[in-house]
Amino acid sequence: MEKGVSVERAIELACKSTMNLGTETVDLSKLYGRTLAESLNSKVDDPRFDNSAMDGWAVCSSDFLNEITVLKIVGTSKAGGKQPPEIRTGQACQIMTGAPMPAGADAIVVVENSQVKGDKVTLIGPANKNYIRKKSENLLRGEETLSAGTRMSAASISLTATMGFAEVKVVKKPKIAIISTGDELKSPGAELLPGEIYESNSYGISVLIDKMGGHAIRFEPVTDSVNSLREALTAAASECDAILTSGGVSMGEWDFVRKLMEEEGDMKFWRIQMRPGGPPLFGEWNGVPIFGLPGNPVSSHVVFLMIVAPWISFNLGSGAHANALGKYVRAKLQDPIAGAKNKICLRRIKITSKNDELIATTHTHQGSGNIHSLVAHNALSILPPGIDARAGENIDAFWWNE
Ligand code: AMP
Ligand code: MG
Repeated sequence: MEKGVSVERAIELACKSTMNLGTETVDLSKLYGRTLAESLNSKVDDPRFDNSAMDGWAVCSSDFLNEITVLKIVGTSKAGGKQPPEIRTGQACQIMTGAPMPAGADAIVVVENSQVKGDKVTLIGPANKNYIRKKSENLLRGEETLSAGTRMSAASISLTATMGFAEVKVVKKPKIAIISTGDELKSPGAELLPGEIYESNSYGISVLIDKMGGHAIRFEPVTDSVNSLREALTAAASECDAILTSGGVSMGEWDFVRKLMEEEGDMKFWRIQMRPGGPPLFGEWNGVPIFGLPGNPVSSHVVFLMIVAPWISFNLGSGAHANALGKYVRAKLQDPIAGAKNKICLRRIKITSKNDELIATTHTHQGSGNIHSLVAHNALSILPPGIDARAGENIDAFWWNE
């Protein structure tokens, strides 16, 4: 078991314990946010045939020596229609966007530059060769176009349809249990007795799990009792692919998640050199990966963004550096922020875009118990250990998706 690991080492160690997910086949309408389990090779050429990018006239460019050309109309080509007859010099074929090019034609004159009289059309050049969309210029049949591990976006779903797939194989959604611990926790809406607070972590963490492409299963919070915790972990391990707990991982007398994992679980690491979010643990319970997240609301959220999210991406096959929850950027600080000795410092900052620059400001109290600080801001500073940042400096940041 390693103690006090860096963020990178925490991800590396966690990625040695993986979820056994398997695959399933889903149709296009259910594909958003899923991760491809296999590469997709296009079933068709795109375009399937040479076609026109404009409404106009298919012509022989050699007929356009002068500005004005009069040609004989020999046919019409429409999208979805049959292959039009071949044209020769002196002839033109009316053509619509997406319609097949007649053999013999090598250029298009746009409809705006034409006038029809009887079976003749008067055309003003230029005759443009670039208005022909060539067969397979976008996709070559048989070519790998999307690789295994791709997280499906709106555009990649349209691309999959273009390639001719009605359904594809994806990685099964990981079922991830979220179990809050603490004698003080009551469900929102219930009456609070002295010393009690509303349980909040499991709600936000569930959303993050689902956003990552997982399936969150909220367990009833457990009290600070070894027996209840053991029971809950064992039930979660039999039902789910991974377990997240919140609370009970620090040095306190009632921090039973840590105690139970030390005595009966298989701990891989404890404590990470980050602030907030120092106390997490990771290991296996009955062979199922388990993250013990800190109870402080900001800490548990930040540990999910920095450690759990890349681990889930890795398990889905997208690699541990893909983070579907946000992006890494550089931003210019407006306010100074103090770093943390020996720890990466993840202060909450608000990034806005101003005159082609990303500007970062800070607004609220930064305590790890203040969940409002995650609402008033939209990003985390990533200050290396022992480094303070001055106003005007550019820093690394993680900008999460709303
Ligand atoms: P712990 O890590 O158990 O020592 O908890 C640290 C702090 O986070 C304490 O103030 C707890 O009351 C609070 N806390 C723990 N779990 C939750 C939760 N699920 N929702 C909101 N606050 C929590
Ligand atoms: Mg507690």
